[in-house]
Amino acid sequence: MNTLPPAALLLRPKPASEASSVRRAWAEINLDHLDHNLLALKTALPSRCDIMPVVKANAYGHGSIQVAQYLNRIGVNQFAVAEIEEGIELRKHGVKGDILILSYTPLGRAYDLFRYRLTQAIVSAEYGQALNQCGLKLKAHVKIDTGMNRLGEPYENIQAIISCYRLEHLHVMGTFSHLSVSDSTRSEQAAFTNMQVERFLHVIRQIEAAGCSPGAVHIQSSYGILNYPAIDCDLARPGIALYGLLSREDDAVMAPIELRPVLSLKAAVAQVKEVRANSPIGYGHKFIPSQDIRIATLTIGYGDGIPKTLADNGGYVLIRGQRAGIIGNICMDQFMVDVTAIHGIRHGDTATLIGQDGSETITAGQIASRCGTVTNEIVSRIGSRVERVYTSTSNEQVETSV
Ligand SMILES: *Cc1c(COP(=O)(O)O)cnc(C)c1O
Repeated sequence: MNTLPPAALLLRPKPASEASSVRRAWAEINLDHLDHNLLALKTALPSRCDIMPVVKANAYGHGSIQVAQYLNRIGVNQFAVAEIEEGIELRKHGVKGDILILSYTPLGRAYDLFRYRLTQAIVSAEYGQALNQCGLKLKAHVKIDTGMNRLGEPYENIQAIISCYRLEHLHVMGTFSHLSVSDSTRSEQAAFTNMQVERFLHVIRQIEAAGCSPGAVHIQSSYGILNYPAIDCDLARPGIALYGLLSREDDAVMAPIELRPVLSLKAAVAQVKEVRANSPIGYGHKFIPSQDIRIATLTIGYGDGIPKTLADNGGYVLIRGQRAGIIGNICMDQFMVDVTAIHGIRHGDTATLIGQDGSETITAGQIASRCGTVTNEIVSRIGSRVERVYTSTSNEQVETSV
């Protein structure tokens, strides 16, 4: 005879507020904040300038499919990704509109560009010619190198640039460049940025003078918008700011925009235990308490993207609204925190690594600065094992990752 599973197994997934009862490690993605940031960035720009959200690297760890689907629903119909697989993934999940691949696609993938209606960056005039020879009708944006010295046809090579607009099979729908020091407004960096913009606009005028159409013109990413909002382009390509973050928390920016962090990162408390003085904790006996302490073991580690160096630089988490310092080495799937001062803590409690708990908040910026990196790296490295939980007040969703 078939026995029914216990009632607990029949329970439906819990909303985000009860996530700790069903989850090990998860990121809560506040789609209302995404909406807010999109509008705030748009408002800072000249009215004709549209936003092309950058959803590469799994939307900076926020989940590219759900983020792009949500943006589609609120009227966004152009996106940028880093590479072709990211674009295909979005198409397979029904994402509509233009999807620009910002970097190199091997020519052997040209048919996939066509099949998934992806727009390819022409990263050099030579690449444009080769792509054209594939003989497929492809959409493209021409990339101009105005001083970043990464990708793009160098701005001086006007004839080579113009040749990209005369390729028989490629439909050039845009022209873009990338700023290398727009995160600073110090005079030397500002002069360099202004020079890049000048070079870019000069190229655009030359393209037009040759009787070609540059299509949608764009050069700003997040800091280009925040520090140089008056640049008059057709599109801007924010990544990190769209997710409510600056790359470094203490960066001063020109545009008075209130950004709201979209992502919170949480994990469950697996166990709470008393550890005697002089009893070493974790791999390598890295931490040996000098007195009796109480510790909690958390269910997240470097295999989920938590930098190991966070343990060495005063990193802590929030549990029951209080700080609990990381002790010992961060392991692949777990790490330990000191909860001696936190009362009533038990397994199943939620530890907040990024986000708010009571009156305390830990920002991605604080973690980035402790670990000597930028928030972009912290959030984009959040691993695939970390479940993404999406919330929005307008439409209380209980979706999980696909
Ligand atoms: C990643 C990237 C962006 C977005 O940069 P943010 O600083 O995150 O806004 C824009 N353009 C290009 C070419 C990029 O590679």
